[in-house]
Amino acid sequence: MQYYNQDTYIYLDGEFVKANLAGIDLFGQSLHYGYGCFEGLRAHNTLHGTRIFKAEQHFQRLSNSCQSISLPYKWDNNELIQKTYELLELNSLRSAYIRPLVLSGPNMHLTSATSAKIMIAAWEWGPYLGHDLLRVCISKVQRPNPKSFRIEAKISGQYVNSILASSEAIKQGYDEALLIDHDGYVAQASSENIFIEKNGKIYTPPLGSIFPGITRQTVIGICRKFQIDVVEKNLTVTDIHEADSAFLCGTAAGIIGIKEVDHIVYKEDWQHTIGASIQRTYKKLVLEEENYEVII
Ligand code: PMP
Repeated sequence: MQYYNQDTYIYLDGEFVKANLAGIDLFGQSLHYGYGCFEGLRAHNTLHGTRIFKAEQHFQRLSNSCQSISLPYKWDNNELIQKTYELLELNSLRSAYIRPLVLSGPNMHLTSATSAKIMIAAWEWGPYLGHDLLRVCISKVQRPNPKSFRIEAKISGQYVNSILASSEAIKQGYDEALLIDHDGYVAQASSENIFIEKNGKIYTPPLGSIFPGITRQTVIGICRKFQIDVVEKNLTVTDIHEADSAFLCGTAAGIIGIKEVDHIVYKEDWQHTIGASIQRTYKKLVLEEENYEVII
């Protein structure tokens, strides 16, 4: 996958620069210790032009992530959103995946950063996990304990955990991994949240040891608007295995159905599940074919 070429621009601390000419400090803590924060947003080619879905919430989460690890965040989010739209135009992108990243300045001590830079990149990217129903497994790799990390924040170093889980799953022939939390409940996938359907109700793990996905919150909003019973509760491996259907959700992956977990195939035909109708609504929502204001 080529993320940029010689014509690609990125936004770097106040300026638009060519991606192939931009450099970072090799003595920054982000590179050595994973002490940086990032976000993942999507711009969609909607009926009203290019629109970034829930841009304010994503940049707010970026600022919160930085605050949670004392990484200086000196930017105005409205200005960053404006610059992101300009970046899309500069790169002639109507729909894109957008990646802001906050990098700490040079410091080899294990102390809080005193300076930071922001870069924003964008590229065309199809659904992260593809279009086909997924084969997933319960991973041996566990989610970090919320007492060891800021699991509600999008901190670069934390993603080595996700890389371990997903690469182990892929090596075994699966598409994605489900991770157990420190209490033995199924928390989520490596970079998506999980929902299951059982007897006409939708269940998802509560906040606590999961990453608080914006897509997860959107799904809950869709359920409430359409009077679908949605329950936030701890889910066991048995709950996952014995569900009628299940799906993953995230900005990069969108909403994607699961075909089987640990080779146990879900009985319900995905197209007839509540998940599939939520998936259809979500697609309309991001394309602004549904009333945007009602659900948010
Ligand atoms: N879990 C993790 C670990 C993530 O990194 C992400 C974002 N890629 C998600 C879940 C989904 O979050 P969102 O819906 O906000 O993209």
